[in-house]
Amino acid sequence: MLKAYKFRLYPNEEQRIYLAKTFGCTRFVYNRMLAERIKSYEENKNLDIKTMKYPTPAQYKYEFEWLKEVDSLSLANAQMNLDKAYKNFFRDKSIGFPKFKKKTNTNNYTTNNQNRTVYIENNHIKVPKLKSMIKIDQHRQFTGLIKSCTISQVPSGKYFISILVDAEIMKLPKTDNKIGVDLGIKEFAITSDEEFFGNPKHLKKSEKKLAKLQKNLSRKQKGSNNRKKAKIKAAKIHEKIANQRKDMLHKVSTQLINQNQVIVIEDLKVSNMVKNHKLAKSIVDVSWSEFRRMLEYKAKWYGREIIIAPVSYASSQLCSNCGNQSSQTKDLSCRTYICPVCGMIMDRDINASKNLLKLAM
Ligand SMILES: [Zn+2]
Repeated sequence: MLKAYKFRLYPNEEQRIYLAKTFGCTRFVYNRMLAERIKSYEENKNLDIKTMKYPTPAQYKYEFEWLKEVDSLSLANAQMNLDKAYKNFFRDKSIGFPKFKKKTNTNNYTTNNQNRTVYIENNHIKVPKLKSMIKIDQHRQFTGLIKSCTISQVPSGKYFISILVDAEIMKLPKTDNKIGVDLGIKEFAITSDEEFFGNPKHLKKSEKKLAKLQKNLSRKQKGSNNRKKAKIKAAKIHEKIANQRKDMLHKVSTQLINQNQVIVIEDLKVSNMVKNHKLAKSIVDVSWSEFRRMLEYKAKWYGREIIIAPVSYASSQLCSNCGNQSSQTKDLSCRTYICPVCGMIMDRDINASKNLLKLAM
C-alpha cells in the first residue's frame, strides 16, 4: 500500500540554486516535448503515443548540455507526466489538451528512489544528484520503503517534499459501529450519533483576512513593489487556509474511520449545487469532495467500508422514524424535520444522517 507524507524543506542557498535549475529543466523538457508532439500532429495528424516515436530526455542532452546538471530521473518523470496527461486527454476529452507549464505555477519535480538514493538521516534528506543533504522538518515518522518524492516550491517561496512510501499498514480491529454522515453548510458534518463537526473559527478568520487583503491588492498600482509584497502576503494566507481546511478534514475523517466499521455519506453533486445556490463559496470551501476522497483512502488503509448513498436517495425528505416521505424539507432554511405522519420532530441534518445510516443496515 502506498502512502504519501508531506514535509517542509529548508534548502540552503546552494541547494536552492540546484532546485531552481531542476524545476526549470523539467519544465523545459515537458514543454519542449509537448511542442514537438503538437508539431508532429500538425504534420502527420497522428496523436497516438504508442506508434509515434518522440525524442527522449536523454537525447535532448546532446542538444542542451545543461540538462546534464540535474537529476535525470526528474526529466524522465517529466516525460511520464506528459504521457499521462495525453492518456487522460484521450480517455476523457473534457479534461482538455495538455497545457504548457508556466514558471509561475509549476516549480516542482519528481524523482525516484533507486538503490537507496533517497533517504533521511538526522533531519536531513538525500536526493539523487545533489551531493549535500537538505534539511527536512519530519514531524511524522514512517516505516516502509520510499518509492518516489516530489519537491516543490509554492508561490510564497516555501519548499515542500511529498514522499511516497510503500508501507504495509496495520488494519484497525473490526468494530460493529456503523454511522451515517450528513454533510452540511452551516455545520461541516452531522452524524447519526448526533455529533456535530463545525467549520473551525480560525478558518473563517483567515478567510476574512484574505478577502480584505484582496480588496487592498486591487487598489495597488500594477507592477509596484507594494503590489508584489501584497501578493506574497495573499499567497501566504491562501496557503494557511488550505492547510487549516485540510487539517480539519483529516481530523474528522480519521475520527470517523477509527470509530466505525461502515460509514455512509451522500453522493453530493457539488458542481450542481454550486450552480444552483448562492451558497457556492461555502460549499466549495468545506471541501466535500476532498473529504470523501480522504474517507475512501483511509477506509482502504484501515479495512473500513464507505457506502455512498445514491443521488436518488432523499435522505433529507424521509422520516427516519416511520419512513414517510415529505417534500417540505426542500427549503434549506427550515432547520427542523417535522413528520406529518408520526409527528416526529428532529434537527433536519440529524434526521438525514439517520436515514443514511439505514443504508448500512
Ligand atoms: Zn414519521
